[in-house]
Amino acid sequence: MALADIQTVFSGNPLDRADHLRTDPEILGDIARGDDARFVLMAEDQILTDDIGDIFWLTAGQCRFLPVGTRVFLGLNGSAPCYGARLDGTPDDLTGLFGHAKFRDARAIAMKLGHAHPSLGIIAQAKSMLSWHQSHRFCAKCGHESKLVKGGYERKCTACDASHFPRTDPVVIMLAFHGDKALVGRGHHLPPGMYSALAGFMEPGETIEEAVARELWEETGVKATKVKYVTSQPWPWPSSLMIGCMAWVEDDELNIDPVEIESARWITKEEAREGLMRTREDFMLPPPLAIAHNLVLAWLKEG
Ligand SMILES: [Zn+2]
Repeated sequence: MALADIQTVFSGNPLDRADHLRTDPEILGDIARGDDARFVLMAEDQILTDDIGDIFWLTAGQCRFLPVGTRVFLGLNGSAPCYGARLDGTPDDLTGLFGHAKFRDARAIAMKLGHAHPSLGIIAQAKSMLSWHQSHRFCAKCGHESKLVKGGYERKCTACDASHFPRTDPVVIMLAFHGDKALVGRGHHLPPGMYSALAGFMEPGETIEEAVARELWEETGVKATKVKYVTSQPWPWPSSLMIGCMAWVEDDELNIDPVEIESARWITKEEAREGLMRTREDFMLPPPLAIAHNLVLAWLKEG
């Protein structure tokens, strides 16, 4: 059953995260060695995939002789325990070892599998978790080495016993409206002709609505009068949560901050349709991979 009306790419992870299994390291060790255990393998920033771009699941036996550095428990697929494993090495080290299996970037996998494929939710979880362990090996409190506990859902400092938990960084992304037009902008990193919804990281001590209003004001000088949450999307670079909103603003006069964005413009529904279909080189909107695409579609469906 879908929990949300809009299924974003990287949502819909079908695994039972089985929190109750994370607390016993012996149980976790035993089930990871079982015949039904399955592993999604990551090397550097890429995931091992099969011919069609879906996850190439490895068995415990296949993993046994691989130089796996970090292993996290993802959850149960039925009764089968699933893990994310990070290879100490590069994707090239495994070339040809598992037939046509190939390492791919998560973005390339999403493009190949299309809309909201369940494997993409698993990939988002594995990629975010493994990236976090990679960059949080030392205690933020005392600087000593920390160790992975609870199947990867915590790191414990070996010196001061402090606990550290995997982080998720919230980002607000919003389509703002004035009359029958929507506001889109061009970040400095976007390819030529591409526009998207405005976005920015949430800051400590603000609500989602306040973050949306602040970002709109800072980037384009428009004042929000109302903000509505629409949908969200896990975004595993390395571990963001995109919080998609719609906002209504006081007037349409723009005052762009050139440091934050290159330009912004108001578009009609007709232009939005053209942008999604990519019929014009000078004006395109993001592909279905991005939550901005879902936000524009939701606006168009309003009639
Ligand atoms: Zn410490």
